[in-house]
Amino acid sequence: MTHRVAIVGAGPSGFYAADGLLRANPDLHIDVIDRLPTPFGLVRAGVAPDHQGTKAVVRQFDRLLAQPDLRFAGNIEVGRDLSWEELGEAYDAVIVAIGMVIDKKLGVPGEDLPHVWGSWRFVGWLNGHPDFRTGPDLSKVERVAIIGNGNVALDVARVLAKSADEMAKSDIVPEAGSAIASAPIKDIHVIGRRGPENASFTNNELGEMGRLMRAVAVTDANGLDTIPPASDSTPEKLRKTKNLQILKGFAGNKPGSKSLTVRFLFNSAPVAFAPGVVDLTSGKLEADLVITCIGYAGEAFPRREDFFAVGWAKRGPTGTIPTNRAEGHAVAKQVIDWLAERDPKSGPDILPAAVDAAGWHRIDKHEVAAGSASGRPRVKLTDWQALLDVAQGG
Ligand SMILES: Cc1cc2nc3c(=O)[nH]c(=O)nc-3n(C[C@H](O)[C@H](O)[C@H](O)COP(=O)(O)OP(=O)(O)OC[C@H]3O[C@@H](n4cnc5c(N)ncnc54)[C@H](O)[C@@H]3O)c2cc1C
Repeated sequence: MTHRVAIVGAGPSGFYAADGLLRANPDLHIDVIDRLPTPFGLVRAGVAPDHQGTKAVVRQFDRLLAQPDLRFAGNIEVGRDLSWEELGEAYDAVIVAIGMVIDKKLGVPGEDLPHVWGSWRFVGWLNGHPDFRTGPDLSKVERVAIIGNGNVALDVARVLAKSADEMAKSDIVPEAGSAIASAPIKDIHVIGRRGPENASFTNNELGEMGRLMRAVAVTDANGLDTIPPASDSTPEKLRKTKNLQILKGFAGNKPGSKSLTVRFLFNSAPVAFAPGVVDLTSGKLEADLVITCIGYAGEAFPRREDFFAVGWAKRGPTGTIPTNRAEGHAVAKQVIDWLAERDPKSGPDILPAAVDAAGWHRIDKHEVAAGSASGRPRVKLTDWQALLDVAQGG
């Protein structure tokens, strides 16, 4: 008899955990379950559509889908289509890799106004997530306020600021791409509640903001000398120092020198939103669209001895894709140790009909073919039924 492990969530942490399990014990049977008919979690639905190099990590995961002992089961939502308890009864161990994608709230008045968007909803729309088929009306948006000082804030600012030519090789959904290209956006503010030395931007992503065709990045020169170069520089200090250097470069740029200006504003937090206006601790700012990029919360799942959390579901919404690798492998080791002391359970296959790896590959092929005519990596299917029809060979 073979042990059976369910991995709930086909994002990076789920795949890295599967990889760790198969390396340690190739005789296991692994079911990777996802609520979407497509695998790869936030690599498909979160990572910015113009960062195709980052998205290329999915090739590693796709290779795992070809392993005979690993079964992809898409379009099954645990908690809806079958319960966590049923999974716990049927499998020898359950790895919880469901991520965290509920937009956090600032808790200030006006946050539920229609022009205030959480980043997950917005990025899901750009990336063709089937839950988010409608984006904001950009037809009259001249001024955008982006709240947050992490890479997601930069992703959002960059995708809004890039020209259609710069997005031509991306897999942004065509409706979002044309809405952005034809929007009258002139000003984007990226707003951080603390000083520039505390921004969590990575150097490459910040530097990219200085190389946009139709947008100039600017900031105030104040506060950019806060970290003196140190001889004992840690990677974190080096990142901050380099960020300040990049921002100093932006401080020398002239606002309005290109058709769009991206303004980095620090030490400023929203206290209220009203139509067309953000009230900041530093004063009032006009904004037709607000996107909050302030982090995520997650869905609850049962904590049991035979359930092992991994990835964002375990450690919260921080860390890049590679962070999940070491952690996924470490959790796989814990699971292997747990299984070593237990006989395999026997019982019927409890999974309802699902989109399997062949179904996903039909979707993949369809999307890639749809993109090839326009030189894009793919044009995503965004409609649930269309995804299911194509998966079934329709
Ligand atoms: C907007 C954004 C941009 C990012 N950009 C980058 C980047 O450029 N580079 C980088 O290295 N990292 C980036 N990251 C971080 C990276 O995406 C995460 O580190 C990584 O995706 C976390 O992996 P995970 O497997 O824990 O979660 P996820 O990738 O979120 O995967 C979770 C999976 O679980 C599924 N699921 C959820 N609930 C259920 C359920 N009840 N039943 C079945 N399935 C379920 C979901 O559909 C999803 O497929 C970005 C994150 C975001 C939000």
